[in-house]
Amino acid sequence: MDLYDIAVIGGGINGAGIARDAAGRGQKVLLAEQNDFASATSSAATKLIHGGLRYLEYYEFRLVAEALAEREVLLKIAPHIIWPLEFVLPHEQHLRPAWMIRMGLFLYDHIGGRSTLPKSRGVKLTPEGHGAGLKPEFRRGFSYSDGWVDDARLVVLNLRAAQNKGATLLPRTRCTGATRSGDRWRVRLCDAASGAEREIEARMLVNAAGPWVKSVIERELKLTSPGKVRLVKGSHIVVPRVHEQRYAYILQNPDRRVIFMVPYERNFTLIGTTDIPVGEEETQPRITADEIAYLCQAVSRYSARPITPAEVMWSYSGVRPLYDDGSEDPSAVTRDYHLMLDAGAAEAEAPLLSVFGGKITTYRKLAEHALEKLAPWMPGAGRPWTHAEALPGGDFGGRDFQALLQDFRARYPALDRHWLARLLRRHGVLADEILAGAATEADLGENFGGSLYERELRYLFEHEWARSSEDVLWRRTKCGLHMSEAQRARVAARLQPS
Ligand SMILES: Cc1cc2nc3c(=O)[nH]c(=O)nc-3n(C[C@H](O)[C@H](O)[C@H](O)COP(=O)(O)OP(=O)(O)OC[C@H]3O[C@@H](n4cnc5c(N)ncnc54)[C@H](O)[C@@H]3O)c2cc1C
Repeated sequence: MDLYDIAVIGGGINGAGIARDAAGRGQKVLLAEQNDFASATSSAATKLIHGGLRYLEYYEFRLVAEALAEREVLLKIAPHIIWPLEFVLPHEQHLRPAWMIRMGLFLYDHIGGRSTLPKSRGVKLTPEGHGAGLKPEFRRGFSYSDGWVDDARLVVLNLRAAQNKGATLLPRTRCTGATRSGDRWRVRLCDAASGAEREIEARMLVNAAGPWVKSVIERELKLTSPGKVRLVKGSHIVVPRVHEQRYAYILQNPDRRVIFMVPYERNFTLIGTTDIPVGEEETQPRITADEIAYLCQAVSRYSARPITPAEVMWSYSGVRPLYDDGSEDPSAVTRDYHLMLDAGAAEAEAPLLSVFGGKITTYRKLAEHALEKLAPWMPGAGRPWTHAEALPGGDFGGRDFQALLQDFRARYPALDRHWLARLLRRHGVLADEILAGAATEADLGENFGGSLYERELRYLFEHEWARSSEDVLWRRTKCGLHMSEAQRARVAARLQPS
């Protein structure tokens, strides 16, 4: 039977981050994900690399400081899929007084240490500038910066890095059980396609099952969970672009929640999110008509033209696996993470580490802390390293994105300039692997529409574990958003096993 140092359950961002870090420290790692990688919460975020301005109101200073420091690290190691975004907060005196917002932004500017992003400031809201798309009655506001991430690609790139360091990665493989026997875990894995079961052994087990963390402990491992999760659904809608500027808006709602309105995929605006408590059975969350109405209404309080449910082009929902700190209000439940170590009853037993909560933004730091907890079982393992090595495609050799794009445009002059930009945003310098030898559009193979060509499709299949049209069109890329129903069906047909 194969023996691993660490077996990880769950291929969301936290499992992927732990797998990458551990593999790079010389551990023999296996990761099993029951569906496609990033198919659950980690592709359903608002996609902000942020400290979380609103968390300051809940005194989450540790989380905000760690997340802001991480923002700097992540902007450096993945400049293709993470970039700065300027946010505008229109001022409404009766919801939060200006002195309170100024104080919060001052803290936000400083609590995370040194930042390369511009500092916050007061701004005039004009239709051609910071007030683009807003009603003229909003005249003043505040501007601050955070980061934007392609969340599903962040997962896949961490996994590719883990694989490059020797990790074994198993998508569409469910962990159906694990038993501890002395210093080993015996882990049962089931292949989703064939139903075939097999067992492996691991010296450490990491439960990064997100919304399923507690049920994996109780049902698959038959143990008592040391913590509880609060499952809180959050939904987003995508509508045609609301304004032509590059700004994102953070909009206050009378219920004291905030709603984000973010430029998305060039032609669209992303609006979210909601906070709806759900039960464990909500494994395939869907947006409801009430949530759509809530989001449209919240944004229309501010937008010059009302946003209506009829405009919604796409929506997605995810379940936040929050650590249950006993808060009544779902918006107030802590967004910080807790790592629960179960070292077994007897000495020298194999440990189980379970991840409760967490943000996309803090995944790398969470992985470091997870390995710190497991350090007694990893004698001789390497030191923290993930802050200093770019994710696949993210080593621009000292250039910024624009310089890299110029270089690609010069080397591939016959290829569409805008398409090249989109390809580089997905793959960074690895775009060369897709383009190798392509002189003209015809060399890229079939054009499926929505900026997807045969060559990239094949690449996603061969190097990024994509199998279904859902994997390709809505996770590895967002090409689905730019396609007609017939074009999406063509991709699905192309991926059917012959
Ligand atoms: C609406 C919303 C907005 C958000 N916005 C942001 C944001 O803007 N910025 C930010 O930093 N964070 C944000 N977050 C939080 C962030 O998305 C999550 O904290 C993070 O994605 C959780 O990752 P995870 O790996 O723990 O869980 P998941 O991504 O859910 O991964 C867990 C995986 O485990 C797998 N699994 C479960 N059981 C088994 C089993 N038995 N065998 C094998 N695999 C199994 C699941 O299939 C799943 O893929 C948001 C979350 C939501 C819901």
